[in-house]
Amino acid sequence: MTKQRQLILDILNHSDRHLTADEIFFLAKLKMPTIAMATIYNNLNAMHEAGMINRLHIDGTADCFDKIVEPHDHLLCDHCGKISDLHLPSLSSSIEETLGFEIETYNLTVHYVCPECRAAQRKR
Ligand SMILES: [Zn+2]
Ligand SMILES: [Zn+2]
Repeated sequence: MTKQRQLILDILNHSDRHLTADEIFFLAKLKMPTIAMATIYNNLNAMHEAGMINRLHIDGTADCFDKIVEPHDHLLCDHCGKISDLHLPSLSSSIEETLGFEIETYNLTVHYVCPECRAAQRKR
């Protein structure tokens, strides 16, 4: 593994949230000032293809990268844009039952207002 890839992996592993390519670039530059944005993109794409990381696409937001590769769903705060993991029992079988045929995969994003934003709204 290249030094650059190791660094990107470390950044994802030490983050408790989902990071965009821009955020990863910013954090990588602190450790490796010469690293280029293209290097970040190339490595993220290669790591995603190799199944080492998860790429998360939510309409209207930048793609995020996730160290958790097992299938899981997401919560999106409509107020601050924070994305959290949501671990639900798989819905595949109930979707398939409804449809009457097999599905490949599904993406579930639950929109809500996170507890921090709710608390901030209440203070105002
Ligand atoms: Zn929020
Ligand atoms: Zn996730």
